Amino acid sequence: MKRIIVFALTACLTASLAPDSGHTDDLRVISLEARLLPREAPAARELDILMEKDGRLYIVSTPRDRATLDALGIRFAFEPSYSGLPAAGPAAAGGGLNGDYHSYPELEAELLELEAAYPGLAAVHILGQSLEGRNIYGLKISDNVGLDEDEAEVLFLGCHHAREWISVEVPLLIARHLLENRTVDSRVRDVVDRSETWIVPLVNPDGLEYSIHVYRYWRKNRRANDDGSFGVDLNRNYGYEWGRDNSGSSPLPQSAVYRGTAPFSEPESAAVRDFVGLRSFLGLVSYHSYGQIILYPWGYARIPVEGEGAERMKALAEGMSGRLEAYRGTRYAFGQASYSLYLTNGDTTDWAFGDHGIPAYTIELSPVSDQDGGFFNAETEILPIFYENLEAALYLIEDCIAVYVPPATDGRAENRPDNRASGGARGGR
Ligand SMILES: [Zn+2]
Repeated sequence: MKRIIVFALTACLTASLAPDSGHTDDLRVISLEARLLPREAPAARELDILMEKDGRLYIVSTPRDRATLDALGIRFAFEPSYSGLPAAGPAAAGGGLNGDYHSYPELEAELLELEAAYPGLAAVHILGQSLEGRNIYGLKISDNVGLDEDEAEVLFLGCHHAREWISVEVPLLIARHLLENRTVDSRVRDVVDRSETWIVPLVNPDGLEYSIHVYRYWRKNRRANDDGSFGVDLNRNYGYEWGRDNSGSSPLPQSAVYRGTAPFSEPESAAVRDFVGLRSFLGLVSYHSYGQIILYPWGYARIPVEGEGAERMKALAEGMSGRLEAYRGTRYAFGQASYSLYLTNGDTTDWAFGDHGIPAYTIELSPVSDQDGGFFNAETEILPIFYENLEAALYLIEDCIAVYVPPATDGRAENRPDNRASGGARGGR
């Protein structure tokens, strides 16, 4: 049986670590009969549904959600925080409250260790700061890492959503693998030497820390909203078709998919925007969990993606899925986000492709469903999930290397081909 990590939180710990513990969202896990609430119903769209199990929906609810359900006459029950999840033993395997998973300080230390261990190949950059002043780190990996060479640039992002801990580990392990294996694996050497691969494993450090120390189900950043609630959904805060409608994001601050007061209102998404604007990425992956699916734009509307770059983007999704499955048979579906999952507006990938023409993917990591553990991957699954995703990542980097055309002139960054020229990718608007 799969071992699921569950961490007991004490009221004492919560109180001592939460600076704003007197000001809470009063989030409670509730459950109700799934048949009472079709997922497409307007009321369901606002809800942060954790899982459906044995005919019941489990929801992280706000007071407003509970009032809405009351008004609709839908009966619900309060659940203990980890209801529906198998009990687990001590999560002490890797030490620390979050076991083998990285907290913000653990990640920071590891990135600096990698830079020190591989000085010519790894360089830590600070892309910006979170609301609470934590650094948003980018690790650049390449030969001659201190130089801006004429090489294909690829970007891997992790943890826009706080509770999706596995999405920190996969990009971080990609970085470690590239660095540790360059001298012994000719394929890795090729990838490292012929690309500039950037790893940004933790876009939402404040949210991750909150998820570790206070509330495991936390999703958003830690913005103090005007209505007294907390958090903006960073993956609804990007600027392309931001706030197009209230299906793909919410204007309500309490919502789990609250889009913020304006595009890039949050320093975390603004840091990604500013960084990507300075580079010329040929491919981008943003890791999330869970679902085992590779999604590409558009998410904002059920309009087929077309135009320059769209065919390469679709082909790469299929290619990544195939490489991934070949590793140990894990099936990741793939497809256009708006047809495959649900509508989203203001997400990272619509913006990356819509504004910059970058083939961009949301990869929802394992497991496939809540019944297999949802957000709570066992520590023993971290490495297998990484290794199968490594196959997809290497394939993507290699394709970026293959299509890369060096600038015709002297190769300074400002003379590089500008991905933004491919605004024709906005097909279908
Ligand atoms: Zn996510």
